[in-house]
Amino acid sequence: MEAVIETTGGLFPAHTYLLDSNNLVAYVKTGETTAFYFKNPIKGFDKRGRKFAPGNKNLFNIKKETHGKTVIGSSGQVYTVTEDSCSCAGFTYRGTCKHMGKHG
Ligand SMILES: [Zn+2]
Repeated sequence: MEAVIETTGGLFPAHTYLLDSNNLVAYVKTGETTAFYFKNPIKGFDKRGRKFAPGNKNLFNIKKETHGKTVIGSSGQVYTVTEDSCSCAGFTYRGTCKHMGKHG
């Protein structure tokens, strides 16, 4: 994924585009901070005759699908487990714990 901001000027507004190689995945209108995602990426984003500079990738909350999962421990404690972490003391000390296996 690559974020670019249009610097062509003239009739082309300075939107920020999120590209996946040559496909347009999402864009943020100039002056706005909310990304609009296309349901299906628009294939073959045409850069010919236009100018682009590196854009701010942070405008797009590129999700890494690591939403925490709540796990209830044996004594009723509640832990948040993600793909590579757990909020319990065992994980903090050992870098792994029994809750990890319960994820996914
Ligand atoms: Zn744990």
